[in-house]
Amino acid sequence: MAVPKSKITRMKRGMRRSHDALTAFNPNECSNCGELKRPHHVCSACGHYAEREVVAIVEENFDEDAA
Ligand SMILES: [Zn+2]
Repeated sequence: MAVPKSKITRMKRGMRRSHDALTAFNPNECSNCGELKRPHHVCSACGHYAEREVVAIVEENFDEDAA
């Protein structure tokens, strides 16, 4: 087991941890539905990207064939 040679001071520990904070992600509004989405990503709510549908959103209702 590695044994530290000397105690890390509060200042040195704080200097190391000054880069540890996570940055919050910066959401954009979808141009189609207005839902918040990640920039440069397909909208998870409507499947649009750059104002056109690129991913079809599958609905749960598939009762047309059963009737
Ligand atoms: Zn959308």
